[in-house]
Amino acid sequence: MLPPPLANKQGVTAARAMASQFTDVRSKSTAANAMETCLEKVRLANEYETATSEYCRNVAALNTRIGVIPQTTYEDIRSASEHTRLISEQARLNLDQHVSEHGC
Ligand SMILES: [Zn+2]
Repeated sequence: MLPPPLANKQGVTAARAMASQFTDVRSKSTAANAMETCLEKVRLANEYETATSEYCRNVAALNTRIGVIPQTTYEDIRSASEHTRLISEQARLNLDQHVSEHGC
């Protein structure tokens, strides 16, 4: 039996999986049902994936530089990481709200 997928402390892996779940809607569509795919949902899912990827990059930068950069630089990167986390969270909320309101 395979072990469960590894998730880091920030739950980034789970967020990424959730984002790709939504973007897979388009890639799995056939030509016939592609016209029925909600383009706004796809756009919001892409925004969410982009924001989550940026957050992941910042967290990775933070993790690789612990102990090798000055504290002030570390705090700058940590602050950028938190900022992108909030953007990612807002993008997820935007997607959830659209799906809830539009029923798509
Ligand atoms: Zn929709």
